[in-house]
Amino acid sequence: MKKKLIIGNWKMNPTTLDEARRIFRSTKNTAKKLTSTEVVVCPPPVYIQALLTKRGDPVVSIGAQDAYFEEQGSFTGEVSPIMLRDLGVTHVIIGHSERREKGESDEVISEKVALALEAGLKVVLCVGEKERDEQGAHLESLKLQIKNSLNKVPKRLIGKLIVAYEPIWAVGAKEAMDPATVYEMSLFVKKSLADAYGHTEAVATQVLYGGSVNFRNAGDIIVRGKVDGLLVGRESVNSDGFTELLKAVDALK
Ligand code: PEP
Repeated sequence: MKKKLIIGNWKMNPTTLDEARRIFRSTKNTAKKLTSTEVVVCPPPVYIQALLTKRGDPVVSIGAQDAYFEEQGSFTGEVSPIMLRDLGVTHVIIGHSERREKGESDEVISEKVALALEAGLKVVLCVGEKERDEQGAHLESLKLQIKNSLNKVPKRLIGKLIVAYEPIWAVGAKEAMDPATVYEMSLFVKKSLADAYGHTEAVATQVLYGGSVNFRNAGDIIVRGKVDGLLVGRESVNSDGFTELLKAVDALK
């Protein structure tokens, strides 16, 4: 059976390295005992090196929360995917809604995705609609967002792409999307990928759900939502909650 993929997005948390180490240790201790779940943690960039104890740590992989679309140069404040790969980072989130909200366009995102994939990183591309409407216009806009966010990405690179479907209204909210709708939307994401790259590529691409996942709803979202895993924000920096979440997911058959 293919392992379920759980990615923790720490966002801009916690505020000290000591606390980052404590949360990471707790996640690692739990992850060690899992048999059918792969765990990735995406801390703020300043903590990455301290948490990467050795290259290719098989217990918990480290991801970044963003990467720039140039390899190097005069780009103050940016981090290149080449630098991340050199450190031992394996994954990178690109196009998170909290960055899209600040003006990151599909065009820039597609450039970032292309370079990060070219650099050999696994890219977690975040997509999702702002709101839903009865007529289904959100489906058209989601399809367009997927197409445009991958505009610069050739088919040969698609093998390392992971798509996180995160309806924006459910990110940082009180409640997650209901699992039956997660299922419909994950099929729609696959269909959009198939239209862009072909059926085989779409089937092989992992599709995750993200948006207010916690230890109580995680199992149900995976089972009834039939997704390949979860992108978890707030609950991933809550050691006890994340421990319970990982155990619940790993216990699924
Ligand atoms: C996220 O940051 O991608 C996310 C889904 O956040 P939360 O789980 O807190 O809603």
